[in-house]
Amino acid sequence: MPTVLDQQRVEKARQDIVQVCRLMWEKGYVAATDGNVSMRLGEQILATPSGLSKGMLHPQELVLTDLQGNPLPERLQTSKGLKPSSELRMHCEAYRRRPDIGAVVHAHPPIALAFSIAGVSLAGCVLPEVVLTLGAIPTTSYATPTSADGPNVIRDLVGRYDALLLDRHGTLTVGKDLLDAYFKLEKIEHSATVTLAAHALGNVRTLPAEEVRRLTAIRRETLGLPPEWQGEICDRDNKASLADPSSPTATPAETAEADDALVARITRAVLRALADSRS
Ligand SMILES: [Zn+2]
Repeated sequence: MPTVLDQQRVEKARQDIVQVCRLMWEKGYVAATDGNVSMRLGEQILATPSGLSKGMLHPQELVLTDLQGNPLPERLQTSKGLKPSSELRMHCEAYRRRPDIGAVVHAHPPIALAFSIAGVSLAGCVLPEVVLTLGAIPTTSYATPTSADGPNVIRDLVGRYDALLLDRHGTLTVGKDLLDAYFKLEKIEHSATVTLAAHALGNVRTLPAEEVRRLTAIRRETLGLPPEWQGEICDRDNKASLADPSSPTATPAETAEADDALVARITRAVLRALADSRS
């Protein structure tokens, strides 16, 4: 039986989720009814419902589930008739793998998503602040959105990283509390935007290995990371893992050239879209 939760705690969580959903929508991290947000409250999860805009949610429309994502009985819900998102499976997997987290945020931020569609990694250790706070932003394998594969592709990575790029889908971030998870989403999109702008200026300088080691040491000390988190944080092979397995293997130089051409193309498209939206 689920434990009886303090009503005040649930009400506060409802308000906090609605506020974060609104921020995601206003910043353009989700379109239409995309994205989902959840908090773990003891033996229960409070989650956004399927099919509603994150910009117009009411606190009472959130759905309570058990830790497997099964909705609690109707008499315990204020969201009559609403169902949790099918992507809640990913959240449940994150909670299973990470007893230390209290919230999960899934969104479709456009610049980060464009990197994934182009097959360009965000795990190259470019921004020192990202290495300090997130370690790296690895990209998962592809899974059909809303399918049962969602939990499979995040399983290993979410055990060691707080911010994931989901191949050709979006992002998944986790945190000790809701704001912590949401801020990591902001960091992913900011990192992608800065990297894109650097490409537009003609050069993206990755951090030297020695500096990455120094930042990683500070990170381990500050966060008191467990031993399994202490491996190589820059997933420099990530680009290769995104390649189409049916296509011939490219040399590193060819891959870098292809990445540069792709990023240049994205940059031109984004700059054109920005210019159009201002005219
Ligand atoms: Zn999604």
